Parts: sequence; structure tokens; C-alpha cells
Amino acid sequence: MTLGVLPQKNNRYALRILGSCGEFTSEELLRLSELTARFGSGRITATSRGTVELNGVAESELKAAIEAVQAAKLRLGGTGATVRAVVACKGTDCRKGMFDVHTLACKLDEEFYGIDVPKKFKIGVFGCPNSLGKAMAQDVGIMPSFTKTGKFEIYIGGLLGNRPVQGKRIPVPLQEDRLVDAIKYILDVYKANGIYPQRLRAVLDNKTELWQEINCYFESLAK
Ligand code: SF4
Repeated sequence: MTLGVLPQKNNRYALRILGSCGEFTSEELLRLSELTARFGSGRITATSRGTVELNGVAESELKAAIEAVQAAKLRLGGTGATVRAVVACKGTDCRKGMFDVHTLACKLDEEFYGIDVPKKFKIGVFGCPNSLGKAMAQDVGIMPSFTKTGKFEIYIGGLLGNRPVQGKRIPVPLQEDRLVDAIKYILDVYKANGIYPQRLRAVLDNKTELWQEINCYFESLAK
């Protein structure tokens, strides 16, 4: 199945479209509107990861709809055993936002989106402690430190779904310029130790020494 295509009821399909970490331009929204009127049900669903889904594409129209989405230069994807669209809160514009959330989220999206992993891998970036719960629900959740100004807390191994688990906070907050290396390391651990369909949390809890290794690596990044 092409990435970004989700089977629905009644032999229909949804096409998942990614913006720029949750943001869509007015031109993109116009193109989406045209496409859902032409191929879909006329409805678009917003997802919790800041993507949208064009609903109700008939199987007979699927190939043409995918080609039209690609021709409209919209980004189809965000499914499968991959690093998913990086989710970001509104912190770049929100009055409580403590840093430029969108810029950091886009940087991480450019670096990691689409990488193959054992199951799926979700990264979230949040602008203030009000999203602590959301940060704890990601495979890697990032938000400003409560105590160290200018540094970031990182939560690892969160899960939603039918067995939600809160991510664990890594004790050492990191500077922004260490975050890419930190996530690369976590992904390497996941890929080296995980097999389908394990999520990161299952991998880490099956080999608890990996938690210790991650903490040690993060301590080295903090120096
Ligand atoms: S987490 Fe904080 S910065 Fe982000 S949208 Fe919520 S209140 Fe605003």
C-alpha cells in the first residue's frame, strides 16, 4: 500500500496529507478542497498529528487521486513502519510559547521524517509545560525544561493507543543543538534492537539496560 493511503469502510480510502508540521498555506488548502470535492466525500478530517485526511476515495479512483495529490505538490504519507510527521504545538505564535516551536519541529521533520523503523516512531515538540501530557505520549517528546532556562526536557517511550503509557523523562536536559544527535541515538537503539511490530517502549522495557545506555549517552551530550 502506498504510504499515506488508509483503507476505510466500504472499500474506500483516505489519503493522509502532511503540511509543514501542522501548518498548511492558503494555496494548499484550496488544492485540498478541490481534490476532496473531485475524488473524496467532500470532507477533510484533521488528525491529532497535524495532518489532514481526504476521505472517501473509491478504489476505482485511487490511482488517479494519488497522482492528482502528487501533481498538486501535496505531501502524501505519514503511515507505515516509519518516523511519522513531527507534531508541534502552536508555540511559535502562542503567548505562552517559550521558543520557536515550528522552526525546531520542521528541522526535526526534515532530518527524521520517513526513516524506516520496526513499527512507527512519533516525535513531538511543545512550547511550554502545558503540554507535558502530550510530550509524555510521544516516542520522543520535547519541551522546555522546568528548571534549566534555554534547555529541553526529553521524554522517551510514550504510547497512546489501547494501552497508553507515559514516556519517561531523561534526567539530563539538553541544549537545542544536541537534540538531533539525541534522537539519532534513540532511533539507532530502536532499529538495532527492535523487530516488527515492537514500539520503542517495548524494546526498552524488554532490555532495561538500554534505558541506562540512553541516560549515559544523554549525559555525555549535556557536557
Ligand atoms: S503547549 Fe504551551 S506554547 Fe504550546 S500551544 Fe499549548 S500553551 Fe501554547
